[in-house]
Amino acid sequence: MTLPRVRLFLLGGTITMTAASNSTSGVVPSVDADALCRAVPGLDQVAEIDARTEQMTASGSLTFQHGFDLAAEIIKADNSGDADGFVIVQGTDTLEEMAFMLDCLLDIKKPVVVTGAMRNPTQISADGPANILAAVTCAATNSVGLAGVVVVLNDDIHSARFVTKTHSGNVDTFQSPETGPVGRVVEGSVRIFSIPVTGPKLTIPRGRDMPKIALITASLGDDGYLLGLLENSDCQGLVIEAFGAGHLPEKYLDVLDGMTKKIPVILSSRVAAGHIFRETYGFQGSEIDLINRGLIPSGILKGPKARILLTILVMSGASREQIKNTFEVWDL
Ligand code: ASP
Repeated sequence: MTLPRVRLFLLGGTITMTAASNSTSGVVPSVDADALCRAVPGLDQVAEIDARTEQMTASGSLTFQHGFDLAAEIIKADNSGDADGFVIVQGTDTLEEMAFMLDCLLDIKKPVVVTGAMRNPTQISADGPANILAAVTCAATNSVGLAGVVVVLNDDIHSARFVTKTHSGNVDTFQSPETGPVGRVVEGSVRIFSIPVTGPKLTIPRGRDMPKIALITASLGDDGYLLGLLENSDCQGLVIEAFGAGHLPEKYLDVLDGMTKKIPVILSSRVAAGHIFRETYGFQGSEIDLINRGLIPSGILKGPKARILLTILVMSGASREQIKNTFEVWDL
C-alpha cells in the first residue's frame, strides 16, 4: 500500500526542548525533525514523512520572513506534486499567528497542519508525540484541505482563522472561542464537523522592506503616553486592542486624528471573542466615533492576527481602501 507523502517542517518550540548539555537551568531547542518523528510509535504507518529541520528556535523569535519562506516552499511542493500534505511544527507561543499568516498566503487544496506541544519531552505525559501523530494523520487526510490551514493539538482540529492560545500551561490551550473546533481525531481517524468561511487570500510580498507595524493595548487610566510616542515615530501602521466592542479613552483622540491621516489604524479588541461594533455607542471614543475618525474595524480579528494581516497588506503596497475592504471580510 502506498502511503500519503507528508512533508514536515520543524521550526522549534517546546516540543523540541530538552536540558542543554552545558547548562543546569531550563530546556532549549535540541531535538531535530528526524529524531522527533522517530519518537512517535506508528507514525511510519500513517504516512511517508519527509522531515526537514528548518529552524530550532523558540517561537517568539520567529519572523514574518520565516512564514513567507515556508509558504513559498509549500506552494512549490504543491505545484510540483511532491507532497500530499504538510505539517509545520513550532512553539505554541506564536503558533496562532504563524498558522493565520499561512492561511492568508496559501490557496491550496492539500492539508496544511500546524502543531506543537505544551509539555517538553523531559516531562511526564509530554504531548508532543501524540500531537505529531494527530497532525500527520490530518495532513495525510485529503478532506482536511477543505478547512484551510488547521491547528491540531490535543486531538482537536481548529481553523487557523479562529483559533487562539488560551492558557499558558494547559495541553488543552488551543480553543476557537467563536466557533469551537472544526473537527477531531478520533481513534486514529479524522472527523470534520464543519468547513470554516474563507478569509482573503494574499500573495507573498516580495522585494519590499519589512514595515514597522505597532500593536498596543488600551487599559484603564491610559493617558495615551505610548500612543504619543508612536505618533512621532516612523511606524507605518498601527493596531489598537481597544476595550470591549471597540472603545478607547478620550485622551487618545487628538493623537488618533493625526495618525489616521498618515497611516492605517486598525481598531481591534482586547477581549477574547466577539466583533468590533459599528453602530451602537455614540460617546467620544466609542466605535461610531472612532470609525468616523478613520479607524478601520478588524471584525473578529484580535490584535496579533490583525497585525499579521495589516503587515502583509502594507508590505504589498495596499491602498487604504484595499486595507479597509480586506478587514471588512473579517466582519463576518
Ligand atoms: N512555550 C513555547 C512552546 O510551547 C515556547 C515556544 O513557543 O517556542 O513551544
